[in-house]
Amino acid sequence: MSRYLSTLGKTLVPYVPGEQPQDRKYIKLNTNESPFPPSPKAVARAQEEAERLQLYSDPDCRSILQALADRYQVPQDCVIVGNGSDEILHFAFEAFCDADCPAVFPDISYGFYPIAARLSGVPYREIPLTEDFSVCPADYFEAKGTVVLANPNAPTGKALPLGDIEDILRHNPDHVVIIDEAYVDFGGESAVPLTKSYDNLLVVQTFSKSRSLAGARLGFAIGAPALIRDLNSIRCSINPYNVNRMTMAAGVGALEDEDYTRANAQAVIAARDYTEKALKGLGFTVLPSRTNFVFASHPNYDGKQLYLDLKERGILVRHFDKDRLRPFNRITIGSQSEMEILMKTITALMEEKV
Ligand SMILES: *Cc1c(COP(=O)(O)O)cnc(C)c1O
Repeated sequence: MSRYLSTLGKTLVPYVPGEQPQDRKYIKLNTNESPFPPSPKAVARAQEEAERLQLYSDPDCRSILQALADRYQVPQDCVIVGNGSDEILHFAFEAFCDADCPAVFPDISYGFYPIAARLSGVPYREIPLTEDFSVCPADYFEAKGTVVLANPNAPTGKALPLGDIEDILRHNPDHVVIIDEAYVDFGGESAVPLTKSYDNLLVVQTFSKSRSLAGARLGFAIGAPALIRDLNSIRCSINPYNVNRMTMAAGVGALEDEDYTRANAQAVIAARDYTEKALKGLGFTVLPSRTNFVFASHPNYDGKQLYLDLKERGILVRHFDKDRLRPFNRITIGSQSEMEILMKTITALMEEKV
């Protein structure tokens, strides 16, 4: 660090993204990207928009907000977009947390939450998951802060039913409850319909996973108009042009092709079922996943060792060298053929060991 770094800067522990090595071609099952390219409609619209890049993007983001409002059947003033949902989460920590309103989230969840809290200089409280890696709703009934829950959760893949989310909302009328639905299109239940009845609910989603646009950086949130106005005042204080022209156009194109999104999500779900069965067949414990990844451990195969062995053979998965996560690997669901290569490789590795 330089001797000029601020006090806040010194407190930061930046997020470490999944590795993107360039030394050889890997089968990438480590960052929960889609194995499928974006919709041709998204690509065509982005290409067209490239010719207007001399102009700033629309600071009101009308085209994409309208498309999202139509898709999710909510008024346009209930929607905001961001440069990835990570940016929306950052806005939300800025807007809805402070010294006496900590962020409250599970001890095992998306690693970005504590980082966003530190950047915003707000305290946070972590609530342990249960023994079987579940969120216990009652643990959040008196949160006394802004609740942040990924549903389905990462890296566990487990989901809470909507009834439990509603219980949490009902018990926290004086606090915002943020539900991060990055993976909802792979079999979760969305809380978006609840935004009509709960003015303390903010649902955050992303185009990075089910819509194959991780590289475009597009996220959105749906909530009561007052919450969205609060987020917009943060957004316009940081960067009123936070979503660029090509990305907005790609998002509109993707929303014109929801059949494609659904078909790809179905293919991922089928490959996930295959992977889960195959891993269990080899003696792995696999948590029940509603996402595009599985979280798996083996009683006789150290998690980190499996990660290293797979990497050597050209397959990247994500290992978290941390407490209860250590025995596990988070394996993104790729195409069916990628998953078959993965299973062949793991089978061969396990045969070598005995
Ligand atoms: C991937 C992911 C995000 C972030 O997505 P971006 O829109 O790419 O910033 C947010 N939350 C969770 C839980 C995720 O896994």
